[in-house]
Amino acid sequence: MDFACSNEQQSFYDMALQFGAERIAPFASDWEEAGTIPRDLLKAAGELGLGGIYACEEFGGSALGRLDATLIFEALSKACPSVAAFISIHNMCVSMIDKYASRDIKERLLPDLCRFEKVASYCLTEPGSGSDAAALRTRAVHRGTEGYVLNGSKAFISGGNFSDIYLVMCRTGEDGPKGISTIVVESSCSGLSFGAFEKKMGWKAQPTAEVRFDDCVVPAGNLVGVEGQGFRYAMAGLDGGRLNIAACALGGAQSALDRAVRYMQERRAFGSLLKDFQALQFRVADMETELQAARIFLYQAAWKLDQNAPDASKHCAMAKRFVTDAAFDVANQALQLLGGYGYLADYGIEKIVRDLRVHQILEGTNEIMRLIVARSMFAP
Ligand SMILES: Cc1cc2nc3c(=O)[nH]c(=O)nc-3n(C[C@H](O)[C@H](O)[C@H](O)COP(=O)(O)OP(=O)(O)OC[C@H]3O[C@@H](n4cnc5c(N)ncnc54)[C@H](O)[C@@H]3O)c2cc1C
Repeated sequence: MDFACSNEQQSFYDMALQFGAERIAPFASDWEEAGTIPRDLLKAAGELGLGGIYACEEFGGSALGRLDATLIFEALSKACPSVAAFISIHNMCVSMIDKYASRDIKERLLPDLCRFEKVASYCLTEPGSGSDAAALRTRAVHRGTEGYVLNGSKAFISGGNFSDIYLVMCRTGEDGPKGISTIVVESSCSGLSFGAFEKKMGWKAQPTAEVRFDDCVVPAGNLVGVEGQGFRYAMAGLDGGRLNIAACALGGAQSALDRAVRYMQERRAFGSLLKDFQALQFRVADMETELQAARIFLYQAAWKLDQNAPDASKHCAMAKRFVTDAAFDVANQALQLLGGYGYLADYGIEKIVRDLRVHQILEGTNEIMRLIVARSMFAP
């Protein structure tokens, strides 16, 4: 068992840290206010290979592993969890196309996606089905030469009305998971429209919108893999996605803790520096310990996914639950350590708390993570 990063992994981490510090952190508040991430930033990330982190090299991907990606997202999110998580969702879509789509789709879409010339959104949730995703109702009907005709809508889509490619899980067959397929919908398709941008507590730099399909026609060749397997592809995508969402929470929380520790060395109360109150020393010691425990657990889950371990999905779910809960708690405590200043935008922590809250909700709520873990424990 080796707990050290390889030199290569350390260099990915350092690269992402530097990119975040130089190209993301100084502008994160402005992007929050604007409600969008500049395309140029994404293209710059693409130049570093961050548009197709684990896609194969043949179509422009970086062909890295899940543990490598976890390190990258942890580092990026120190600059801004919202931007890092947006990059992670795009990568989840790219990995699904890379793994399951036809050669034709890959040749057509992957090079631009890997360069981040094009951006992809993951469309699973619907107004009537979130946690119970297999109950989705958006329907795609195969109409001969016309291709697939889609009707329905997707809720909460990160990148809605911003992305170029929508990876849509939709019903082509029976009720339940076996009737679901994955279809690529390009932004140019007729019958595609969007709701207004959602107003949110955090992740404000990311546009989030409902995606609507009204007799939306896509070529039959846009089917990813085979009909009826879409739910399986979507869940496989989420295994890695959950690691990244956890990694983004971890990086954000570490940044909040680092800020609090710096502050405690400068702020005085009752004639002492905050850092000299033992109650506060113990608190930051516990916060540091929680994050380190979360980090090791996350890396182990990523390693299991890289190894295709039979219990990888369970470990991804456990890590997502544990890390995002620990990270939110640490960020919230860091805010408390700054007193009233923690609540002010200038000190950088309130944004992290707002951003990290949704990590406990999306890509499967933390209740659903417990469901996955419990199911595996009681499996015959
Ligand atoms: C900012 C943001 C961005 C998002 N981006 C995307 C995206 O890009 N693509 C996408 O497809 N989706 C996206 N989502 C949707 C997200 O994945 C869902 O919100 C999430 O899966 C929960 O679904 P829901 O909101 O319908 O809650 P519900 O499923 O209605 O759940 C409500 C509550 O009940 C609990 N619950 C439900 N079932 C059970 C059960 N069996 N046992 C115990 N508790 C249960 C849940 O944990 C939750 O606390 C995004 C959401 C947000 C907020």
